[in-house]
Amino acid sequence: MDFSTLCVHGCSKRYDTTGSVSVPIFQSATFVHPGVGLSTGFDYSRAQNPTREYLEQTVANLEGGADAIAFSSGMAAITTLMEIFSPGDHIIATDDLYGGSHRLFSHISKKNGLTFDFVDTTDVQNIKKCIRNETRAVFIETPTNPMMHVTDIAAVSKLCRENSLLLVVDNTFLTPYFQRPLQLGADIVVHSGTKYLGGHNDTLAGFIVVSDAALAERLRFLSKTTGACLSPFDSWLLIRGIKTLAVRLERQQQTAFRIAEWLSKQDKIRKVHYPGLPSHPGYEISKKQTSGFGAMLSFETDSKETAHRILERVSIIQYAESLGGVESLITYPMLQTHADIPQQEREARGIGECLLRLSVGLEAADDLIEDLRQAIYGGKANV
Ligand SMILES: *Cc1c(COP(=O)(O)O)cnc(C)c1O
Repeated sequence: MDFSTLCVHGCSKRYDTTGSVSVPIFQSATFVHPGVGLSTGFDYSRAQNPTREYLEQTVANLEGGADAIAFSSGMAAITTLMEIFSPGDHIIATDDLYGGSHRLFSHISKKNGLTFDFVDTTDVQNIKKCIRNETRAVFIETPTNPMMHVTDIAAVSKLCRENSLLLVVDNTFLTPYFQRPLQLGADIVVHSGTKYLGGHNDTLAGFIVVSDAALAERLRFLSKTTGACLSPFDSWLLIRGIKTLAVRLERQQQTAFRIAEWLSKQDKIRKVHYPGLPSHPGYEISKKQTSGFGAMLSFETDSKETAHRILERVSIIQYAESLGGVESLITYPMLQTHADIPQQEREARGIGECLLRLSVGLEAADDLIEDLRQAIYGGKANV
């Protein structure tokens, strides 16, 4: 079945007999037992809920996994995932990581006895050098947030297999529409469903997807025990968002490509980071491992003043955190998503006062380019 059909009919299971085309929102905390020791399969919504189960099976099918577990946010998913590790375990992670994951690893996981090495995973050798007896997993993001570095998933997966390490891929930026890490050898996929899967900037969600049944069972135990499950209503919003995932991403990518090309030609823009530009260092690997380049890009302006002017003058594009929705959003990673990373480390990674990140939405490309043009050079307003 084609991916776009799976987005619409991701799970064939029906939970009621009315023939409702839209999956009902089972807004119930608990479920009646039909008899002593009997269960309908649903006992209590922290453990199972029909609306959430429908969503989970849809996401598992999209990623080609055996199981998916839905959480109340991406960070709830990653926090729960960290519970599979024990004090003393060592994890190697991409250095250019979503700020919240970096904060979780450096402040909470570390307190719980886990140790981390943050390395540039675009070069597999950097990972190899850090492997030691205590190493249990490699956690990568590709492309990364916000520098858009691309890591070769199959190459890292091979290294992980040789060393009995779990490979975790945060697939938030590309979604299974463009990239399926489990098929490239990853063991675990995590998502901020808040972004493209939900797609409408209206709810938070997170997922863990796995291909191994035993690992799925362990994670289900952890999720019902720690309790950061996705509510029935939010599950329904995600089901609804996913129905249009393929068309949204296709169009958003087209527009992102046009904007990346336009920005590349502007004097006041020093550099554009978009894996779909042949000049991007990750272009060839992207072509090999993904079916598209996505709709996220970041760029460097010629000065702090230009960066600030853009943030203050954009009018269709909104200056707000988050990404992946129908509304285009621009962020200032230095002050927003990555503010908690020590300045020296942040700047060494290129996240300085001239870097802006753009999530391209579903507005017309011409309108977005005109908005950026007037913001960069001054136009009708604020001249
Ligand atoms: C947003 C994001 C997260 C965290 O997800 P929330 O839903 O905001 O908790 C994790 N990874 C990436 C790449 C993200 O963009």
